[in-house]
Amino acid sequence: MNVTKRLIPVNFTKGRSGFKPVGIVLHLMDGTLKGTDAWFRNTKSQASTHYGVGKKGEVYQWVDEADTAWGNGRVYKPTWKLVRSENPNLYTISIEHEGVSGHIWTEEQYKATAELVQQIAKRWDIPLDRDHIIIHSEIYALKPSCTGPGLDMDKFMALVSPTTSLQNVLVKGSASPSVYWADAKDILHSIPSWEFYLEFFNGEIKVLDQKMVDSMKKGLPFTKSA
Ligand SMILES: [Zn+2]
Repeated sequence: MNVTKRLIPVNFTKGRSGFKPVGIVLHLMDGTLKGTDAWFRNTKSQASTHYGVGKKGEVYQWVDEADTAWGNGRVYKPTWKLVRSENPNLYTISIEHEGVSGHIWTEEQYKATAELVQQIAKRWDIPLDRDHIIIHSEIYALKPSCTGPGLDMDKFMALVSPTTSLQNVLVKGSASPSVYWADAKDILHSIPSWEFYLEFFNGEIKVLDQKMVDSMKKGLPFTKSA
C-alpha cells in the first residue's frame, strides 16, 4: 500500500487543539477520487478528510494526521460510544472511499484501507475494534449513505484485526473446534499478511509456529501441533 501525498493548502485546521485521535472514521465519497481531490482543494467545499482510497486501492493523503480535517464535524443521533461534546474532527482521522451511493467496496479498497487503518492505529495507539473504527453515519445519522450497505464491516474488521475476529468467533460459540477452525480459516485466508496464524482448542488461542504457517500457505491439511 503506497500513500501518495496530495496535501491540500486549504479546508483544514492546523493542529488538534490539544486532542489526540481516538477514532478512525470511514466515509464514502459519492464521487470519484479525482473529483474529491479537486473538491477538497476548492475553498467553497469547506470539507476534507485525511485520506482517500480509490477503487483500485490507490491511497491519497490530503491532510496530515496531526492536523484537523473537516470530514465529520456534524453530530446527529450518534451511536458511536466515544463521541463527546467537542467537534469530532478534533479526535478522529477520516478516510474517504471512491464510489457513488450504494457502491460495493472493491477487494482492493478493503485491502488498502485495512492496511492504512492498521498503520494509523499503530501510530496513535488506537485499538483495532468497532469502538474505535467507525463509519460516518455512526456520528451523523442524517447521512445513512455514508458508508451505506456497500461496506461489510464484519469482513473489514476481520481484515484489520484477525485476532479480535477469531476471539469473536470463539465467543459466539460455534459447535465444535473443527467448526471454529473452519470459520477461522475463512478469516485467515482473507488476510493480506500471514502473521497471525492461530490455533485454538478448549477455548484457548495460541500462535502457530512457522512450520504450520508454511504448510497452511501451501494448502496442506491442517494438523494439530504437538
Ligand atoms: Zn461521510
